[in-house]
Amino acid sequence: MLIDHVEVLVSSPGRNFVTLRVRTADGLTGYGDATLNGRELAVAAYLQEHVVPLLTGRDAHRIEDTWQYLYRGAYWRRGPVTMAAIAAVDTALWDLKAKVAGLPLYQLLGGRSRDACLVYGHASGNTLPELFDSIRAHLEKGYRALRIQTGLPGMSTVYGVASSPAAAGERYDYEPARATALPVEERWDTRLYLRHLPTVFEAVRAEFGPELPLLHDSHHRLTPIQAASLGKALEPYDLFWLEDVTPAENQEALRLVRRHTTTPLAIGEVFNTIWDYQTLIREQLIDYVRSPVTHAGGITALRRIFDYAAMYQVKSGIHGPTDISPVGLAAALHLGVAIHNFGIQEYMPHTSDTDAVFRPSYRFAGGSLAPGEEPGIGIDYDDVAAARFPYKAAYLPVNRLLDGTVHDW
Ligand SMILES: [Mg+2]
Repeated sequence: MLIDHVEVLVSSPGRNFVTLRVRTADGLTGYGDATLNGRELAVAAYLQEHVVPLLTGRDAHRIEDTWQYLYRGAYWRRGPVTMAAIAAVDTALWDLKAKVAGLPLYQLLGGRSRDACLVYGHASGNTLPELFDSIRAHLEKGYRALRIQTGLPGMSTVYGVASSPAAAGERYDYEPARATALPVEERWDTRLYLRHLPTVFEAVRAEFGPELPLLHDSHHRLTPIQAASLGKALEPYDLFWLEDVTPAENQEALRLVRRHTTTPLAIGEVFNTIWDYQTLIREQLIDYVRSPVTHAGGITALRRIFDYAAMYQVKSGIHGPTDISPVGLAAALHLGVAIHNFGIQEYMPHTSDTDAVFRPSYRFAGGSLAPGEEPGIGIDYDDVAAARFPYKAAYLPVNRLLDGTVHDW
């Protein structure tokens, strides 16, 4: 199981992805996802220049040792670039180990705790009729939980709302990264949002009833007291969760939010280590952990976060936008069916071009995603297909308040 060849694969089938491929001397191949939306080539260079030379000749079985070697050995710790690079190596080694064992990865993580992972889809619309249409379309496809994002009256673009009814050929596809020379700039009005959003949830509950689990993402845009006020205003509509209400670098800020509302809170898609959750979990300031395998140091490190969270009855809610590649999503599903404290999995389906490159074996049915049953994580990267989609620089939007002040996007 000695590693003898490591490649950093950059392709753009529908959007940019950075993938690590690790080969062993006996011809096995493992894959890891290192995609960092809008900053992809930083991770590709980190891997190519600083990590690939360290891997050749190492024993691929030594997952924990390799994780510690890359984390402690760099001296410079944490951060999204470093942790995405470590995540890619870690995931590839788990993929390899499962292939050697001849088992789907979840069997090595303790076996199934459930049949499949309940997912939530993204319903959005600029207006209520468009939003209702989107909700109905998702329900027809079998979704059993939905994130609700909506336009604001008088605002042209709002986070989470499909930019065009015909985007990417799928009516409610939402892809925020744009291949423009400079980032697209959006505008934001917090007071308008706080007034408008509860009326949307009231209308959705009136139309679709009390059963359907509903989620919403505030995308880091509120102060703690604004977040507290929103959580309280949404209590009558029984949200499954309210996500990223504040930029949570200041974990203590969530104490104030928690004191005022019982709306469940989910946080952490931009976090990359267990330390980012230390106060949030220990003080039970959140209900769901949002980190994905891809940005939190891989399966080894995310499992550690979930085990810590389980002590406080905090559950998983893994980030699953399209910029988590099928490798990252497959890894999330193996972890999701294995852990006891699974909550829900985010699911934005990839384009058919993306699936043609990665050939994932997970399957969506009945509102859930199930990992594939073949040995490993169930990814088979197609180099010929990938060659048709070269890297294209793209940026996430930048957000400004109405007076021009840069705000959290
Ligand atoms: Mg989010």
